[in-house]
Amino acid sequence: MPTYDYKCSACGHDFEVFQSISAERLTECPECGGAVERLIGAGAGFLFKGSGFYQTDCRSSDYNKAAKADKPTASPPKKDEKSASKKDAKKAQ
Ligand SMILES: [Zn+2]
Repeated sequence: MPTYDYKCSACGHDFEVFQSISAERLTECPECGGAVERLIGAGAGFLFKGSGFYQTDCRSSDYNKAAKADKPTASPPKKDEKSASKKDAKKAQ
């Protein structure tokens, strides 16, 4: 499903929405109800890397905090560190 990038012309709020191609495009800003315009050229996939995909800018700070708290679980196993340093020591001798 493509992701569409919208920007509110009233308050400047920009956001992304997943919509099917056949879906009607949004015309109202979720924040202020003003008119929004759809920005062309936003690629799906790339948007997943953005800080607040789909979410509003206001919410994204909380969203980022949660995302950061989840990330550091991917630490390298200590076993590898030991064997790696042993190998280095042997090489040095
Ligand atoms: Zn707005």
